[in-house]
Amino acid sequence: MIKHDVVVIGGGLAGMRAAVEAAERGADVAIVSKMHPVRSHSGAAQGGINAALGNREEDSPASHTFDTVKGSDYLGDQDAIAAMCEDAPKQIIWLEHRGCIFSRLPDGRIAQRPFGGAGAPRTCYSADVTGLVILHTLWEQLERFGVKVYEEYFCTALAIEDGIGSGVVAYNMRNGELELITAKATIFATGGAGRMYAKTTNGYASTADGMSIAYKAGIPLMDMEFMQFHPTTLKENGVLMTEGARGEGAYLLNSEGERFMFKYAPNKGELASRDVVSRAEWTEILEGRGVDGCVLLDMRHLGREKILERLPQIRELALDATGKDAIDDPIPILPGAHYTMGGIETDKFGATRVPGVYAAGECACVSVHGSNRLGGNSLLDTIVFGARAAAHAVDYIKSIGEVRPSTRTLQSEKDRIAALLARSKGTRAPILRRKMNETMSANTFIFRNEKDLASGVAELEAVRKEFDESAIVMDKSKTFNTDLVSTFETDFLIDAALCLAKGALERKESRGAQARTDYPERDDANWLKHTLAFRQENALPRLDYSRAVKITDFKPEVRSY
Ligand SMILES: Cc1cc2nc3c(=O)[nH]c(=O)nc-3n(C[C@H](O)[C@H](O)[C@H](O)COP(=O)(O)OP(=O)(O)OC[C@H]3O[C@@H](n4cnc5c(N)ncnc54)[C@H](O)[C@@H]3O)c2cc1C
Repeated sequence: MIKHDVVVIGGGLAGMRAAVEAAERGADVAIVSKMHPVRSHSGAAQGGINAALGNREEDSPASHTFDTVKGSDYLGDQDAIAAMCEDAPKQIIWLEHRGCIFSRLPDGRIAQRPFGGAGAPRTCYSADVTGLVILHTLWEQLERFGVKVYEEYFCTALAIEDGIGSGVVAYNMRNGELELITAKATIFATGGAGRMYAKTTNGYASTADGMSIAYKAGIPLMDMEFMQFHPTTLKENGVLMTEGARGEGAYLLNSEGERFMFKYAPNKGELASRDVVSRAEWTEILEGRGVDGCVLLDMRHLGREKILERLPQIRELALDATGKDAIDDPIPILPGAHYTMGGIETDKFGATRVPGVYAAGECACVSVHGSNRLGGNSLLDTIVFGARAAAHAVDYIKSIGEVRPSTRTLQSEKDRIAALLARSKGTRAPILRRKMNETMSANTFIFRNEKDLASGVAELEAVRKEFDESAIVMDKSKTFNTDLVSTFETDFLIDAALCLAKGALERKESRGAQARTDYPERDDANWLKHTLAFRQENALPRLDYSRAVKITDFKPEVRSY
């Protein structure tokens, strides 16, 4: 049996930051990851990470806090947001001292670019490959501390004994064995759920695993209805064109060559927050001012030199997918599913309701992003709350004795998976996944209404039922059985999709990323509250609204850009 003090599920930025913090504090910590850590989706992050360093213009953590609260459309918890924004400059210096190569101003200080919804240029970056650079910095730290990594281990279940977390069960993808990993503290850092949608900027591994595993174990998911649609993704393949492009001055144009954003956000134009820009683009397209179902991202006026220096990766990505060179041509783009604001409910230390179980990064909902995340705040969230969750977990494990290894969770996982593999007639998971993807894209996209959402919920309920009763895995082999692993992932995605659709149906208002055409206004009197989704056996999630939004300094105001 494998045993550690702390086990972190996920090797992206949140997971690695948590593991390094736990190791620095002297804990015996291990990472369990379904892929090599540096291949995590964090490595695809382009534009940057926010911190009020004030290197270009005067700035402060208080101003960063205000922008984030406003960006969240007042649904974010203000105590958690303030904690994140105050810690941000320290975390950037922490990374810098461990060798992270940030782009520089001419005087040698860390460069900062403007990002959407921000009152000052506060996004630190490494050209347009920021996530990869930070990921490699953290990987070096893991090596330095000799943190054990269980790579190509796929976590399938959370073990709870005597009401406290006691580790996880993981499937070793190399030999098909299930193993119990016992730990006094478990930190989920499994990333987002973008693969619920047919088109997304997210990697193939962003499949809601930790969210669904926690949910199945009785921990609620919070604010799942809020899915961020990024304004600039390629029509061809959904690949992201960083907000950094607009930060560097790129324009959005419609078929009339008009910079339409100023009609929707007179002060901020292209740099309004993402929900506002995505709705504006979709409105232009619906009203007939699109170009082949898209709008255009125009970087030509930035000039060859600036594009090659600051945005080299997205120029290449666009060239490969569209054949168009951003130096000479505008690039056709669309809004696409990008970021899961909701996730595993935690407090501002990353702790869930079950002692010994934590969550950090995109799989968690702290909540610092509320109903709309600002660009550059997610990388920050992974670093700040990865470290905070680990610090809390290391204190917690000192206060408890040994935990009981959950051999019964191991046995029930063995039985469940054996039954799945034994089934020979039924529906293959890719077919169920496609149904879910199509339902999500058709019914829970940028503009939502009662009729579409209700039929979305009904269709997803049917998919859930079909999966439970008849999902089959054709490949019965033990070595790298990707058919089985992708079936696990489809199971997880269906849970997340149901919570999203049901939450969106019940929330009868428009706020941040949730735009209801039948309830177009924000309704603070009735809906300034979080949605908690609890799993029920063979039924839709039970929604609960008992968690109030924490409001400290900023009373909700009308939000305009
Ligand atoms: C294309 C793109 C660009 C982005 N650009 C920016 C940006 O510029 N700035 C910004 O702030 N944010 C950006 N974001 C968002 C940000 O990158 C992510 O929210 C963040 O990196 C998520 O980090 P994470 O550590 O939570 O998860 P991830 O990096 O997704 O890592 C998840 C980890 O969990 C592991 N895992 C998952 N399930 C299991 C399982 N069942 N068993 C074992 N292991 C498992 C995976 O192996 C992986 O190691 C971007 C996102 C995308 C998709």
